[in-house]
Amino acid sequence: EPTINQIAAGEVVERPSAVVKELVENAVDAGSTAITVEIKEGGLSLIRITDNGAGIAKEDIPMAFLRHATSKIRTAQDLLSVTSLGFRGEALSSIAAVSQVELITKTSSSLNGYRYIIEGGDEKSLEEIGSPGGTTILIRNLFYNTPARRKFLKSAVTEAGYISDLMERLMVSHPDISFKYIVNNQVKLQSSGNNNIKDILYNIYGRDITKEILPLHYESNELKITGFIGKPMINRGNRMYENYFINGRYIKSNVITKAIEEAYKPFLMQHKYPFTSLYYEIDPNTIDVNVHPQKLEIRLKNNETVYQATVDAIRDILSGKEM
Ligand code: ADP
Ligand code: MG
Repeated sequence: EPTINQIAAGEVVERPSAVVKELVENAVDAGSTAITVEIKEGGLSLIRITDNGAGIAKEDIPMAFLRHATSKIRTAQDLLSVTSLGFRGEALSSIAAVSQVELITKTSSSLNGYRYIIEGGDEKSLEEIGSPGGTTILIRNLFYNTPARRKFLKSAVTEAGYISDLMERLMVSHPDISFKYIVNNQVKLQSSGNNNIKDILYNIYGRDITKEILPLHYESNELKITGFIGKPMINRGNRMYENYFINGRYIKSNVITKAIEEAYKPFLMQHKYPFTSLYYEIDPNTIDVNVHPQKLEIRLKNNETVYQATVDAIRDILSGKEM
């Protein structure tokens, strides 16, 4: 029967894409400049994430898989100014509770790497091996010990689709990181890590997108917004293309979504879903990210400021430029 850890795991990792999200965020937090994500069978048989980040020291490896073990928060005050993507220390323990995990990691100060195996939350081995710097984590047979949860998943193709959507968002949200995404042995998406947002959008959305977007730059005492917005005649069928990132985090905020749609209102004739890819830099002290278990939703302390800045920045461009 399910243990407390298996039950708790469901909150953090309800499907393969959530596992990929947590693991890529860990790689980002570890300072990686290159991250490879490989999946097989929609992530059900295999998820492999390789990064070139800081690695985990031998003595910290078992700890990292304990519930609420995090190296990222030390005090209650830290919680108020979270800048790392992860901060709850729940992901690795939750993932390990419902899969077979193999971790290979090496820090720069260690001569050797280490391989750690943990299955269904049970430690199997920790041994020394040769390895390049950084971390590779393999997740095999996700939900193998929680058949009820496995049954709730969609087909492998659909689950792979969720992961592809996630990879697109991750690439757009971290243009300074080089990503490679491999599905069933084929490279599906790649980004250079050269901070070229237009190139990334081109790779994801195709050649035409570069003709359809306008650069945006807004700066005030409180916040900075950069990125691209779609020309108003390019209407999208749904909110899928209204993306924005706060301090490198892909999130949802009713305030920003409303502001974007409000800004476009006078310019979109019949439709209301524009394309945006906006990067917000906001003082972390004015953000509460601890709202949703998957950290998708945040609460802003200065709603009004962010709302108005977004509307102004978009309207300035739409009313000023020739379309
Ligand atoms: P959190 O990210 O909330 O701290 P996790 O369970 O995701 O919790 O990870 C636990 C800890 O394991 C992290 O705090 C970090 O120290 C370490 N860790 C996990 N993944 C990596 C990685 N790819 N590179 C370096 N350290 C990692
Ligand atoms: Mg994490």
